[in-house]
Amino acid sequence: MSTPLSASAALAAAESTGHRVVQLGGWKTHNRNHKGAWGPVNGVMVHHTGSDTSAPAAYATNVLHDGYTGLPGPLSQFGIDASGTIYTIGWGRGNHAGRGDGRVLDRVIAEDPSLMCGEAKPTRRDTDGNPRFYGIEVMYSGGHRMTDDQREATEGLSAALCAAHGWGAASVIGHREWSTTKWDPGQESLTSMRRDIAARLQIGDFDMASADEIAAAILRSTVTHPITGEEVTIREALRMALVGKIEAAEANAGVRGLRSDLDEQRREVL
Ligand SMILES: [Zn+2]
Repeated sequence: MSTPLSASAALAAAESTGHRVVQLGGWKTHNRNHKGAWGPVNGVMVHHTGSDTSAPAAYATNVLHDGYTGLPGPLSQFGIDASGTIYTIGWGRGNHAGRGDGRVLDRVIAEDPSLMCGEAKPTRRDTDGNPRFYGIEVMYSGGHRMTDDQREATEGLSAALCAAHGWGAASVIGHREWSTTKWDPGQESLTSMRRDIAARLQIGDFDMASADEIAAAILRSTVTHPITGEEVTIREALRMALVGKIEAAEANAGVRGLRSDLDEQRREVL
């Protein structure tokens, strides 16, 4: 599903994290939809603002909401300060992603599992990312780690947005995985962030497999049969093993029967 969430669904996602949410005035209709497309959305992009701030609420309003000369706001959909407070900045198209690598977007859409093992390395600037990603601006310099509260809120919000769309953690990327000229979000590893988000999606109420679903998936997976060498499902391998045991038991019973017959004949001869 790639239709953008409504502003109220986005607010519900932010509030579901348990972190404080501050709504900037008029954020629900603050956007740049008059300048270009908004959606289809395919993922979440994590940024850093590039500076630590002691006045995050003012920064959220004066910079993230308003923008600046040459880059009008909103500069993201969400901002997150060092205490883990989430600010709703605007809803709709914003100026955060810029142009980036369309092949990275393809990998995000496909939820490429290799994104769980390493960061994407963009090489092109052929695609407008602003309609395709929700932007989270994490208010920190990037020259050190995020605070625990900040990282927790960033992962929680990313997971909640993914859950609202039915996406997995491979739908979350950092700005440096999109643009060749960016390094945000600084010191944080996107691979480990995605793994943490995946764990949240697993243990939350979002998408938990039942014991029956896990058992069925195991039975459907395949193994190489040790004698025939053919690829068989676990279910079939179990069936073959059971049949083999029954045949062996029957053969044993046959041998025992033959022996007792022979013993009887021997006794008669003696
Ligand atoms: Zn950025």
